[in-house]
Amino acid sequence: MRTLILVLRDQLDRDATVLHEADPGRDAVAMTEADVHRDRYAEHKQRLALGFAAMRHYRADLRDDGWTVHYQPADAPAGAEDAPAFLRQQLAEHQPERVAMTEPGRHALLETIEGVCEEMGVPLRVHADDHFLATHDTFEQWADGRKELTLEYFYRERRREYDVLVTDDGDPVGGDWNFDDDNQESFGADGPGMVPEGPAFERDAMTEDVLDLVRTQFADAPGALDAFRWPVTPAQARAALADFVEHRLPNFGTYQDAMWTGRAFLYHSRLSCALNLKLLDPMTAVRAAEEAYHDDHAPLNAVEGFVRQILGWREFVRGVYWLHAPEYVDRNALEATEDLPEFYWTGDTDMRCLSECTGQVREHAYAHHIPRLMVMGLFGLLYGVDPQQMNEWHESMYIDAWEWVSTPNMVGMALYADGGTVGTKPYTASGKYINRMSNYCSHCRYDPDEAVGDEACPFTSLYWNFLDRHQETFSGNRRMNFQLANVRRKSDAELQDIAERVEEVRALTEAGEI
Ligand code: SF4
Repeated sequence: MRTLILVLRDQLDRDATVLHEADPGRDAVAMTEADVHRDRYAEHKQRLALGFAAMRHYRADLRDDGWTVHYQPADAPAGAEDAPAFLRQQLAEHQPERVAMTEPGRHALLETIEGVCEEMGVPLRVHADDHFLATHDTFEQWADGRKELTLEYFYRERRREYDVLVTDDGDPVGGDWNFDDDNQESFGADGPGMVPEGPAFERDAMTEDVLDLVRTQFADAPGALDAFRWPVTPAQARAALADFVEHRLPNFGTYQDAMWTGRAFLYHSRLSCALNLKLLDPMTAVRAAEEAYHDDHAPLNAVEGFVRQILGWREFVRGVYWLHAPEYVDRNALEATEDLPEFYWTGDTDMRCLSECTGQVREHAYAHHIPRLMVMGLFGLLYGVDPQQMNEWHESMYIDAWEWVSTPNMVGMALYADGGTVGTKPYTASGKYINRMSNYCSHCRYDPDEAVGDEACPFTSLYWNFLDRHQETFSGNRRMNFQLANVRRKSDAELQDIAERVEEVRALTEAGEI
């Protein structure tokens, strides 16, 4: 064997350069289900099932094309415990001339694999991950010399570069680059009504085997398996995209921030897992949405909102991660040190929004961006949860989370622990925001308008206390002026009462009684 190609769980791209440059007649692929996280923390059952099922279908596809695939299943007796250990075994057994792989989505793993190859005396070639649209060079050049990394400007450049929703003159179609103001509707008192369900893919024997394996061998892993309905092949991922564009894209923009009891998915695409495993090409998704606009099937605010998530935000956070790796994962700008409350895992809390949103995560390994950012992330920010604990929880429980994307979203966007690299201000809000965007508060024992007293919403008390504690920290941030002016209008006595309520909330949280 000349080249051993290591393919990780989130690298299932059949168009990857690392495969194109190899020859199935003389090179081989190595894959292990003992992936990078086993020793770091437990993973949601659906994460494991999706990863294993997608890997096994990928393996079958490669073998059909004549590839030799050395594959270690999760239940292999005496199997290697993680990807680097697996690689070491493979090198000893097959003695390849070199190793090749696509750049992993975790900086520390890349370093470990480099170390294994060096130790074993085998050269390693790491290919750029060309599934992404912006290369590291592109992002570095764009970021060079900028005081602030602002998504909006990065996104506009990508729109022009890829000619997406752009006129012949290089202007945005519809006259604006961003339709965010049209995309913040709630469902009002009547709720969302009927929203077309996503497709339920038929499970073939390979997927059923994996579900049985996770059910029996990973019975102690967090989360439930019953609602598993994720696409496990590129064909299923494309079918999921087509179904989204047909049935949910038209309303996606308007209601993308809205939440409702018992409705985890609403108008969201659920394509992030397929994108992040590399089952779905991002430009295929972008072009499908753009076509829906040109065909008058979906309005511009919906299509632009969807395009911005993929061509803008997804590429932007990956650029930020690699620009600042490896130190980025350890940032803690607000010196937050509280342990992650137990209810993030169990859902056992009488804060209705948190029991509902963490319940969605346990049931589906998923919640859309607003529960992540403005409910579960927001509580972590206001309460002062240690960002690394929060990031590990997020990466372990969400179907689409990998270090390159989880860290900027959780450590950066949600907790502001990166000190403002991905967001120019912390995303703070009181319980009133959650009340406006959902029906959670109407089923809750707390009152989102109150900051003091037994009925006071913990979010609202923590919100004012957070602003009070960090007045100095954010005093130079123009975008915080409005919120800081409001907290300064409160009297010392009011702030003292709020601080006392926050102490109660902290004590109750630690005791598991809230
Ligand atoms: Fe959440 Fe507060 Fe609303 Fe209860 S009142 S659901 S704790 S925001």
